[in-house]
Amino acid sequence: MKKLGILGGGQLGRMLLQAAANYPVVTFVLENDPDCPAAKLCQHFTLGDFRNYDDVLAFGRQVDILTIEIEAINVDALETLVAEGKTVIPSPAVLRTIKNKVTQKAFYAQHAIPTPSFVVTETLQDLHQHTDKLPAVHKVGEGGYDGKGVQMLHSADDFPKGFDAPSVLEQKVDIATEIAVLAAVDQAGKVVLYPPVEMVFDPVLNLLDYQLCPAQIDKTVLWKAEAIVMRLVKAFGSAGLFAVELLVDKQGEVWVNETAPRVHNSGHHSIEAHYSSQYDMLLRVLLNYPLGNPDALSGSALVNLIGEPGYSGPARYEGLEEILKMPGAYVHIYGKAQTKPGRKMGHVTVLGTDRIDLTRKARLIKEGLKVKA
Ligand code: ADP
Repeated sequence: MKKLGILGGGQLGRMLLQAAANYPVVTFVLENDPDCPAAKLCQHFTLGDFRNYDDVLAFGRQVDILTIEIEAINVDALETLVAEGKTVIPSPAVLRTIKNKVTQKAFYAQHAIPTPSFVVTETLQDLHQHTDKLPAVHKVGEGGYDGKGVQMLHSADDFPKGFDAPSVLEQKVDIATEIAVLAAVDQAGKVVLYPPVEMVFDPVLNLLDYQLCPAQIDKTVLWKAEAIVMRLVKAFGSAGLFAVELLVDKQGEVWVNETAPRVHNSGHHSIEAHYSSQYDMLLRVLLNYPLGNPDALSGSALVNLIGEPGYSGPARYEGLEEILKMPGAYVHIYGKAQTKPGRKMGHVTVLGTDRIDLTRKARLIKEGLKVKA
């Protein structure tokens, strides 16, 4: 049986392992926390740092195929492993491009992929040369996640909130809708696309509230999004599963915000709502099997279970039993012992007939299920 190594042991790795249980494959995980969400579901767990060259090299040498569930991987080690004959998906080159927003944006520009126009800043001081670009969005090159490396700069008064490290300063898009498209590329280069999902934001907190699939977008927006994603994955030239986040502006233009070269939060709903989930699809790619069917079996809403503000400590899931009684709701708890404000602790996918039904169910779940300590 082939040996599959997953770099990173978070919830994405855990759900990939759940899908891997259906295939003839032996699973290995590298992560520096023996209690991480993936540790108990893999067959072989290695304690180590995926940012460290030696750790990644030693881990990779014992498997046949490697994939990632986080971008912050030691790419030099992956390049050595490719040179030694290992299959690494996505390719180290793509990972190198994507893991830094400066090189990621430059790649879009080089390949004529529509993305908000930008300049690169090296220090906080550099922002003062670009007051003409305001209002704009400052994004740190490396180390940001879940909005933590992103700052809106409305005026020069906001400059102290920016990043004193290599970053991009990006034109602010007048957003009508945020959507995401998952693409799977097999080892022969064949591509399939999942239907777009739509992010619904809390207008007060400006945080992701829930996600709906299908997205409510015009046909022309759909076609533009699909054409852009197709061109993008062709440009990457790598097998893998790619999550492309897109901004749709009020004129109906479509812009690439960012890409993750891996399974993604925006694809969790595919476990129950699509023929082949993003996890099943990635396994097919990794094991060189035919691609699955990305189409939806049902409309779905996805609600992330986030650690409630004001609570830190052993996690308690308030309202869980009520949500488990809801027809068509699928609860996923990631097995993280400790909750803290904003931590992703689980998610719920709920199936529904139409947008009104899905919105109602998503709100019930948001209100009814809280992660506290
Ligand atoms: P992260 O990598 O932390 O998820 P993103 O680059 O996705 O950060 O940005 C987070 C959010 O900021 C986006 O979901 C979007 O709402 C907003 N945003 C990002 N870029 C722009 C932009 N150019 N114009 C307007 N809003 C933006």
